[in-house]
Amino acid sequence: MPDRADWIPASSATTPLFAGVDLGGTNIKVGLVDDRGRTLAFHTEPTRVDTGPDDVCRRMGEGVLTVARLAGVAPAAIARVGLGTPGPQDLKAGTIIRAGNLPGFDGYPVRDAVSRACGLPVTFANDATAAGYGEFWIGSASEFGSSVLLTLGSGVGCGIVIEGVLLEGAHSHGAECGHNLVDPAFDARQCPCGQPGHLEAYCSATALKARARAALAAGADGSLSRAVAGGAELTPILISREAAAGDPLAMDLILEVARWLGIGIVTLMHTVDPDAVLLGGAMTFGGEGHPVGKAFIERIRAEVKSRTFPLLAERTAIRFAALGGDAGYVGAAGIARVEHQRLARPTAP
Ligand SMILES: [Zn+2]
Repeated sequence: MPDRADWIPASSATTPLFAGVDLGGTNIKVGLVDDRGRTLAFHTEPTRVDTGPDDVCRRMGEGVLTVARLAGVAPAAIARVGLGTPGPQDLKAGTIIRAGNLPGFDGYPVRDAVSRACGLPVTFANDATAAGYGEFWIGSASEFGSSVLLTLGSGVGCGIVIEGVLLEGAHSHGAECGHNLVDPAFDARQCPCGQPGHLEAYCSATALKARARAALAAGADGSLSRAVAGGAELTPILISREAAAGDPLAMDLILEVARWLGIGIVTLMHTVDPDAVLLGGAMTFGGEGHPVGKAFIERIRAEVKSRTFPLLAERTAIRFAALGGDAGYVGAAGIARVEHQRLARPTAP
């Protein structure tokens, strides 16, 4: 969440302005950013999905008006709103097809409902694509022409930007790389989507917790085992803490995630050949500056190096994302900006 002290005043903003809305199962985040991606105001509130999609969309629209008020600008100063939601979606129709953590939203016309609620045009995007665009625009890939962001959370999301263009696909299912096949064995781990062997089944927080639970149930000993026996909740944070404290099982579990990620990343590199592959979300283990985060990313780099062309291993940056939980709203605003610029260009006769 951007610190209020980091908001820039409207008087020093570069116009036009864009609002970004990030809809998650837990929270709605809304930010107002300028033409350079700098935040003027931010608002967040619980999604309260039980109130139903009409109410959630009304509050998202009101959130846009709220950030305008917080920044001291008229809503009309906002050129366009970007809305990122979990998928899968029909981006052209502006609907969520089916989202596990947003019950009641299946087939709901979320884009147009938000547009009505704030009185502004809305561009619709996948939340992981929006986060990927945020990192590409002003985050840890800002010096590059192309990037792939993998978000490691309860699932594995992906956002791909190539020469400034978002990869959305013919059926709004582009960059669903959490469901890329990494293990073709018939008894491969089951992905939440119902198919075996997908990246998400090996590299999400859910997958890490499941592996840890299985290892502990099989009788693994050590400080992680003792912490859980003592009542600590089995989370990636706990596993990371015990890995840092020297528990071999905890470190092995994290490095196993890294190995599978390396395999998944090689396929992405051979498909896209991006300048950079970024890792974001909850499972970054403290980042490059933390011993566990450093071991994690170095294991990924080593796995990639052993499986790709020397030139790609040398030149493709593999690094942690920079924007954290802000990437979604910043990127959604950035996608609205791309659409605004596209519409402003004169069409060929
Ligand atoms: Zn899957």
